[in-house]
Amino acid sequence: MAFTKKTVRDVDVEGKRIIMRVDFNVPLDENQNVTDDTRVRAAIPTIKYLKEHGAGIVLMSHLGRPKGDGFEPELSLKPAAEKLAELTGYEVKFVDDTYGDKAAEAVAAVKPGDILVLENVRFLKAEKKNDPEVAKKLASYGDIFVLDAFGTAHRAQGSVVGPAAHIPAVAGFLLEKEVDTLTSIFSEPERPFVAIVGGSKVSSKIGVLDHLIDAADTIIIGGGMAYTFFLAKGYKTVGTSLKEEDWVERAAEMLKKAEDKGVKILLPVDNVVTDDFAENNVIETVPSDQIPEDRMGMDIGPKTEALYAEAIKGAKTVFWNGPMGVFEKDAFAHGTEVVARAVADSDCTSIIGGGDSVAAINKFGLADKMSWISTGGGASMELVEGKALPGVEALLDA
Ligand code: ADP
Ligand code: MG
Repeated sequence: MAFTKKTVRDVDVEGKRIIMRVDFNVPLDENQNVTDDTRVRAAIPTIKYLKEHGAGIVLMSHLGRPKGDGFEPELSLKPAAEKLAELTGYEVKFVDDTYGDKAAEAVAAVKPGDILVLENVRFLKAEKKNDPEVAKKLASYGDIFVLDAFGTAHRAQGSVVGPAAHIPAVAGFLLEKEVDTLTSIFSEPERPFVAIVGGSKVSSKIGVLDHLIDAADTIIIGGGMAYTFFLAKGYKTVGTSLKEEDWVERAAEMLKKAEDKGVKILLPVDNVVTDDFAENNVIETVPSDQIPEDRMGMDIGPKTEALYAEAIKGAKTVFWNGPMGVFEKDAFAHGTEVVARAVADSDCTSIIGGGDSVAAINKFGLADKMSWISTGGGASMELVEGKALPGVEALLDA
């Protein structure tokens, strides 16, 4: 186990009131319907455990990006509270207040087994600044603080870290599982450990690559960042493909570091290129060192697909972040799909992180075939960069 903090299992919750930070930051349509309930579902095991163990539960979360000057109807947490009721069959109360008397009264009425959802914590600007008054107020709502909001655990904000300064603070099951899974790949991966890194820019993934080189046996590179690596390898041109000239040297250092450590880095050998990002009149496949000046790389080519699928087939652990191409367009989704299928079919522990990577896997209907799909984009990236999450740090040590 790579999780070193106390969890809800380690404290006596019977007859206690729990103030719990969840991540109910769900997408809503124009009629306030929840369009993806993944995050609400992810919080249920902890809520269920607390209820069954006789605790009264007060839930809080942010939703969207309020201005912080008060109530905004389209960013209310009410639809999320209703979704929780629908998914669990539990009675879920909701109060349209977070820090005022109305909230305090509703909290005081919470009895063992009750579930109350507070209004969006970010309707008050001070929450994001981890204001001490916010921390004290939220802590006053419970005997014990539970953090299960993995998606915001990397933010040192009032509802994430604040109550831990005043009352015992422990992790929920989602937080525990996320942190354990995403840190275990570095401490005790079953080998071979193949990491797949794609997406758009090298600059945004440098921390991830740096840390993965210390743990993985093979790193597969795709997406827009591949072109900066081509330049680092000395290829004369990448045409009009995405490239970051300022990062070429850093990419070259990365290749050298990998070589010194005996870590294999796989780069695309061929690419699907086009003449124009928007129009795509021409779509053709070219070798990596022969991209024409007026062509833009949009996806990995068929030879690369085969090469990558073969490497994934032999893996025992796979971590994947970042699509292999511009998968949002069907013409350039093939490389990502082949890689996703190879991961799904491989006899390995597969861990997926990153918003667009998860969207790609859902698009191909392969989510059920992965071992773990992280619910947190930014938080999962920070863990994979080897950073500690403030929300986790604030919890009691096990
Ligand atoms: P994640 O959200 O999984 O961490 P990123 O945000 O890093 O992934 O990258 C996803 C984006 O990278 C997608 O919008 C995709 O279109 C883009 N991308 C992939 N390949 C290319 C490419 N060859 N050129 C430009 N953008 C690319
Ligand atoms: Mg993204």
